[in-house]
Amino acid sequence: MSDLVIPAPTLPTVPTTTGGRFPVRRIFCVGRNYAAHAREMGHDPDREPPFFFTKPADAIVADGADTPYPSVTQRLEHEVELVAAIGTGGSDLAQEDALGHVWGYAVGLDLTRRDLQAEAKRLGRPWDTAKGFDASAPIGAIAPAAEVDPTSGTVELRVNGDLRQSGDLADQIWSVAETVAELSRFVTLAPGDLVMTGTPEGVGVVRRGDTLDGAITGVGSVRTTIV
Ligand code: MN
Repeated sequence: MSDLVIPAPTLPTVPTTTGGRFPVRRIFCVGRNYAAHAREMGHDPDREPPFFFTKPADAIVADGADTPYPSVTQRLEHEVELVAAIGTGGSDLAQEDALGHVWGYAVGLDLTRRDLQAEAKRLGRPWDTAKGFDASAPIGAIAPAAEVDPTSGTVELRVNGDLRQSGDLADQIWSVAETVAELSRFVTLAPGDLVMTGTPEGVGVVRRGDTLDGAITGVGSVRTTIV
């Protein structure tokens, strides 16, 4: 018999291309990791070390499922990103060891209430409500790391079939290895952690009825419709 005073929350999971499911513990995200995107957001990409924010694990939207348009925003925007799924934990990882801690890779969307983010930046407030809201993280199937090269591959996002974002993993300011190593200085990474590694240029507005298709060559894809 359980002594839990309320029902235990359901463990969020993401399907893998191997037919299993990856249990999700936390979701970390990197800001401004492509020079062209940093510039389009009004920043100088050459001067900033990586910085991190989070989404709750239960913000995940299954591939192919609808995403409800979030409350309290007039400007929902898409960001397509490579997601690294941590399989082995650790802290203070060396760059050359970091990729050995990654179980696999997926394509994810870092959905953003851009108006709330702009307000937070202006007022020096946290980004939580701009980034970490319900259903803010559609994520596709996770492919095993052995099948993926996280250092190159076209990163694309289409809205209703029209190409909106196009970049390449090779253009990341901080590589996945560098990002995972750096993040492990701030937190002890654990199995089940996801790391969204930043978005290339071309972020833009999403409206109800839009279908978003994210894809990364050699990794996979993710699709959702905003309802
Ligand atoms: Mn992002």
